[in-house]
Amino acid sequence: MKALVIAERADAARELCAGARTMADEVVLVSFGEVAEGLADKVAHISVPEGAVLDDAADTVIALFDAEAPEVVLVEPTRHMKSIAGKLAAHAGTSAITDVMSFEDAGAKSLYFGGVAERVQKAKGVGIYTVSAGTFEGAEPSGANATEEVAWVAPANPVKLISSKPIEKSGVDLFKADAVVAAGRGFAEESELDLARALADKLGGGLACSRPLTEGVNWLPTELYVGVSGLMLSPKVYVACGISGQMQHMVGCNRSQTMFAINKDKNAPIFKQCDYGLVGDVKDVLPALTAAL
Ligand SMILES: Cc1cc2nc3c(=O)[nH]c(=O)nc-3n(C[C@H](O)[C@H](O)[C@H](O)COP(=O)(O)OP(=O)(O)OC[C@H]3O[C@@H](n4cnc5c(N)ncnc54)[C@H](O)[C@@H]3O)c2cc1C
Repeated sequence: MKALVIAERADAARELCAGARTMADEVVLVSFGEVAEGLADKVAHISVPEGAVLDDAADTVIALFDAEAPEVVLVEPTRHMKSIAGKLAAHAGTSAITDVMSFEDAGAKSLYFGGVAERVQKAKGVGIYTVSAGTFEGAEPSGANATEEVAWVAPANPVKLISSKPIEKSGVDLFKADAVVAAGRGFAEESELDLARALADKLGGGLACSRPLTEGVNWLPTELYVGVSGLMLSPKVYVACGISGQMQHMVGCNRSQTMFAINKDKNAPIFKQCDYGLVGDVKDVLPALTAAL
C-alpha cells in the first residue's frame, strides 16, 4: 500500500509519516519547506511561488496525487492543508474525513457536534484524512527521503493575497511545552490570571485557557484556548484551574500524560477526568502550590 502525507509543519510531517508507515509500505511526503532526515521513502517538495498562498498548491498536490496513486492520504489539520484536502477529495471523487483521533479496524474515529459525540467512518475509495496531533504517538518514521521538486501547477482561480502580517504571539509555544497551566471561568478577575502565570513559569510551561476567557471576557488571545474548536494539546502535565470539565474543553487536553485539576466545587465534572484533583479556591491553592514547588 502507498500513503501520501501532506504537512506544512515539521512536527506534523514527522508524526504523520510515522503513522503512514504503520499503514503502508511506501510513504511519500508532500512538503513545502525543510524536511528532517529519514521521514519517508520519497519527499515531493513544492515551492510556493512568491505572492501565492499555500491553498493554491491544491492543483500541484492533485497532479502529484494522480501520478503517485496512493491508497491513503494523511493530512495535517491546519487551515491551509484542510483546504487542500477538500479540493483533493473532490478531485478523487471521495470525501475528506476530518479531525481523526484514532484509526480502528472499523474505520477512523473523530468527534462531531462540537465534540459531544464521536463517530467512526470508513472512506469509500481512497481514504483522505486530516489527523489530529497525538494520533500516532510512539510510532517512528523511516525512509531514505529521496527528494524530488514538483513542478508548480498554477490554479485557474488563485487566491489574491491583499496583505499579511504576523500576529505577535505571547508566551511559549504550547504545542512544545511540557507543562500547560490552563485557566477557566473560576478566575473572577483578569488580574488573578497572574497566579496561573506564576505556576506556569515555575513549571517552565505556558499559560492556556478555556474558551470563555478569550471569547467571553477577552482576557487572553484566542490562540490560547484549548478544546474542540481551539488547541488540541498533549503535554506531559496539564493543570486545569477553575475549569469545570465540559467535553468541548476536555477533548483538547485529555491526551495529556498527567492531568491535575483545581476547582472549588468537589462535584465538578473535571474531577472524574483528571489524575489528581484538588478541591479549593484558585486564589488559595495556586500561590501555595507555586511556593511549594
Ligand atoms: C460548539 C461549541 C464549541 C466549544 N468549543 C470550546 C473549546 O474549544 N474550548 C473550550 O474551553 N470551550 C468550548 N466551548 C464551551 C464549553 O462548552 C464550556 O462552556 C467551557 O469550556 C466552560 O469553560 P470553563 O470550564 O472555564 O467555565 P465553567 O464551565 O463556567 O466552569 C468554571 C469552573 O470554575 C469553578 N470555580 C469557580 N470559582 C472558582 C474558584 N475561585 N476557584 C476554583 N474553582 C472555581 C467552578 O466550580 C466551575 O467548575 C464550546 C461550546 C460549544 C457549544
